[in-house]
Amino acid sequence: MVNEFENVDTLSILEKLNRAKEYQKNKMLFDWKKRKEILKKLYDNIIKMQDEIFEALKKDLNKSEVESYMSEVGLVLNEITFMIKHLKKFTKTKKVRTSLSQFHARSYQIPCPYGVVLVISPWNYPFMLAIEPIVDAVASGNSVILKPSEFSPNTSQVVEELINITFPQGLVEVVQGEKEEATFLLDQDFDYIFFTGSTRVGKIVMQKAAENFTPVTLELGGKCPCIVDKNADIDLSARRIVFGKFLNCGQTCVAPDYVYCHKDIKTKLIDAIEREIVLQYGISPIENENYPKLINLKQFNVMCSFITKDNLIFGGKNNVDNLKIEPTLVSSTFEDEVMQDEIFGPILPIVEYENLDEAIDNIRNYPKPLALYIFSKSKDVQNKILKYCDFGGGCVNDTIIHIAGSELGFGGLKESGMGAYHGKVGFDTFTHYKSIVDKKCWIDLPMRYQPYTKLKYKIIRKFLK
Ligand code: NAD
Repeated sequence: MVNEFENVDTLSILEKLNRAKEYQKNKMLFDWKKRKEILKKLYDNIIKMQDEIFEALKKDLNKSEVESYMSEVGLVLNEITFMIKHLKKFTKTKKVRTSLSQFHARSYQIPCPYGVVLVISPWNYPFMLAIEPIVDAVASGNSVILKPSEFSPNTSQVVEELINITFPQGLVEVVQGEKEEATFLLDQDFDYIFFTGSTRVGKIVMQKAAENFTPVTLELGGKCPCIVDKNADIDLSARRIVFGKFLNCGQTCVAPDYVYCHKDIKTKLIDAIEREIVLQYGISPIENENYPKLINLKQFNVMCSFITKDNLIFGGKNNVDNLKIEPTLVSSTFEDEVMQDEIFGPILPIVEYENLDEAIDNIRNYPKPLALYIFSKSKDVQNKILKYCDFGGGCVNDTIIHIAGSELGFGGLKESGMGAYHGKVGFDTFTHYKSIVDKKCWIDLPMRYQPYTKLKYKIIRKFLK
């Protein structure tokens, strides 16, 4: 029989898991001050190691330092700052109202860590998507085993170094590896699983988690529509669409996947997007040092396959040596190949609509997306789309910035995921609230006890209604 874990260092993985379980058993992070101290240390070490982080992101994805700071390192620092500021409040036992039927008692909820959390992260924001869930999980008092992506090896290595110099053994441990290592990890009994990645693998993770009744958060992907209404500010829309779509060369889970615009403004919008691409990335983006690259040849080839001489509107040039493809606009309908799955690259299909209700119907025919964007000056249009389309989160008159702060939770629904994190929502994700009724002993109301009488029943009905 073939042993699928033949090449996996299972012993070392089990050792790490045991250390994490031991750490939790000893309740080492029970005190919020200890958690705060560790988060501060993480913050300081990220600052100390930022040049190595930038270098690794440059090697893996050709991200510029500005982009790496803005969309990875800075966001993590911001989340740590938020957690440090609010930790004392978040970790307090929360008093809640006690109903009269429980007289005399006190009710409260104690925030408790789940225990040992498995975090599996992808390659597209390989620093942020590995560290940010750790920040939330550790703030909530958990231990973590992280499996970063094998497709961003330089960043995954730096992440491991950062973790090793920051966290004591057992608090956060890293398991490098591929699908086999991830599968072996998923066969173990964790207290919580936090997965970021594709919808396909998300389904596998959820099936495995069910074996042990392990709760999961799934941060998945999907096709995020970007609706441009006929009374939108066209130039501003174009600038913000180009920013959100071509950041990280389109390899962003919340990037606008396609533009869905009213037919009356289509030509004007395309002209504006073309101008913006040139303004932001230059005449030859594939020679622009600050323009990221596709992660690997496989993804590069998939992207090239979406461009044909019949659908090409703008861009389309590529360089296989540096794995770059220009920001590219293609003309599309919902039947086209490029519209069947999440694109995850620098190809932007332009699809037109004539009637908003029909547009909403078409969006609703797709799986529920992780994000949706509306460009319109009309409140009615904005409200109609917000009301009738289901999606994880999004922006009105902008793209992708809703994920940047710690004030809003971030996550999808159905095919684009379940659960959320960032800020308080992130703290709650990794926290189990123990609900307690603390009953006083000086009085013991008799209504609930047998033998039941008409009077008791009458009183019970008075209290419980
Ligand atoms: P992926 O699902 O291929 O891989 C993600 C992680 O899962 C990696 O660490 C990988 O090693 C591991 N993995 C792969 N196969 C596995 C298996 N069979 N069992 C267990 N683990 C396995 O995703 P990816 O290609 O790294 O990332 C791209 C996808 O992630 C896109 O769909 C994108 O939309 C999504 N994404 C979502 C978010 C979000 O926050 N919602 C963020 C970034 C990326």
